[in-house]
Amino acid sequence: MTTKEKIPHYPLFINGGFVEGEKQEILGSINPHTGKVWATFAAANKVDVERAISIARKTLEKGEWADMLPSMRGKLLFRLSGLIEEHASFLGEIETQDSGKLLIETVTQTKYVADYYRYYAGLADKIEGATLPIDKPDMHVYTTCEPIGVVAAIVPWNAQMFLTATKLAPALAAGCAVIIKASEIAPCALLYFGKLIKEAGFPDGVVSIITGDAKNCAVPLTTHPDIDRIAFTGGADTAKQIVINSAENFAVTTLELGGKSPIIIFEDADIESAVNGIIAGNYGASGQSCVAGSRVIVHESIKEDVIARLTEKIQNIKVGSPTDPKTHVGPLCTEKQIILIEDTLKKAKIQGGKIHFGGKRKEGEGYYFEPTLVDCPDDSIATLEIEMFGPVMSMLSFEGEKEAINLANNSQYGLGSGVFTNNLARAHRVSKKIKAGICWINSYRAISPIAPFGGYNRSGYARESGIQAINDYIRTKTTWINISDTPMANPFVMR
Ligand code: NAD
Repeated sequence: MTTKEKIPHYPLFINGGFVEGEKQEILGSINPHTGKVWATFAAANKVDVERAISIARKTLEKGEWADMLPSMRGKLLFRLSGLIEEHASFLGEIETQDSGKLLIETVTQTKYVADYYRYYAGLADKIEGATLPIDKPDMHVYTTCEPIGVVAAIVPWNAQMFLTATKLAPALAAGCAVIIKASEIAPCALLYFGKLIKEAGFPDGVVSIITGDAKNCAVPLTTHPDIDRIAFTGGADTAKQIVINSAENFAVTTLELGGKSPIIIFEDADIESAVNGIIAGNYGASGQSCVAGSRVIVHESIKEDVIARLTEKIQNIKVGSPTDPKTHVGPLCTEKQIILIEDTLKKAKIQGGKIHFGGKRKEGEGYYFEPTLVDCPDDSIATLEIEMFGPVMSMLSFEGEKEAINLANNSQYGLGSGVFTNNLARAHRVSKKIKAGICWINSYRAISPIAPFGGYNRSGYARESGIQAINDYIRTKTTWINISDTPMANPFVMR
């Protein structure tokens, strides 16, 4: 194929080697800045999926990985984290071409991703069982932790390296084998990542990285009887399919889904800080963040001031190429998102929403949309409900604290939330009442391997990151030992 000679090509990573798919199917990855194919990649089908799963299963049954000491697994993870740091610039470049995310962001995020592997490397030899104070005489009872088995890790396009780390790092620390299913929209950085897995010294087949469409790749993977655990990040509609698929294998499933997160700005807040917070929450990553704070709820007494400062700051926000270090807002990953934004804004205008700035696609090539502010007269406006995954902020006003909390909780989602206030008691009170997995006070979008991350309701039910995430990749075995010096009595003779 001629395109294959001119542009980079990324094969699948199965059993420690780079391979084409069984059907030799090749797909293209579009660079959102140009709207043109910048690289090709191999697409997996059912046969490739089955091969990756069967090899993964074998690594758990016998051999180097099955016998590896937990401390050695930790050492391999430490090595992998170092390699990620070393290759962060190159991985970031691939991710930027693939997804349109700013280069500065993909490189910085990839460097930080190394810390996730380091965090779980340190936990690999701290997964402990217990001796139980059992309520039976002459019994010694203890628990041990086993790896849960073969994990299917399914990730979307918007932060491929990061969203893989939150699954792969604890899974490997626990001793599982993992098949990563990269998004077919932007899989290249993850496919390349196979090289680092190999270099770190993980035995062949412990980690495979595949990609492909839902029908030929994701469905055969998530319905396969040999999958023990599904870790999914993506949209809520796909999550429904995942849950249905898991009925085929009873795989333990975790779901990290989307959001329509509220940011409340109280009248006592530091307004400058709050305006920076809502900019970070809405225009950071071009709004393509599951925790985008896309419902801004402002006290009516300061709303005009907030809009005036925002309008002034927006003049200095540069929309442009994701590789230009001066750019603040890059392109959206797909044209589909622009169409959804345009349709939703059309509905919002009919409902009475007022567009203060933005609202238009940028002329020329690439998938650019202007940072947008929609002033909403009430809670019924479409932009307050639909997750658009783009730089669109919707603003509502409130009079009292209870009203603000009710508005914040009036959503089918519950992932992130933000509160800007200088009243400490209010900060704690409101955080307690908000129905979301994360609440940032006088801050927004901070993450860490140490801090659990996940949502309520339509935002899913998992908590990734943090110590407890390791428990999602282990299962407990209970061993009972009779330590009496008399043999077991006849169970049918009552004493
Ligand atoms: P998506 O749900 O369309 O796709 C995610 C993955 O699921 C892809 O790899 C896709 O191939 C796979 N998939 C599709 N159909 C499937 C099926 N029937 N069975 C199994 N797998 C299937 O999501 P997307 O558009 O790539 O990403 C955007 C979504 O991800 C948004 O809703 C966003 O909020 C969410 N997201 C959530 C988080 C979080 O941590 N909570 C982080 C980032 C993105």
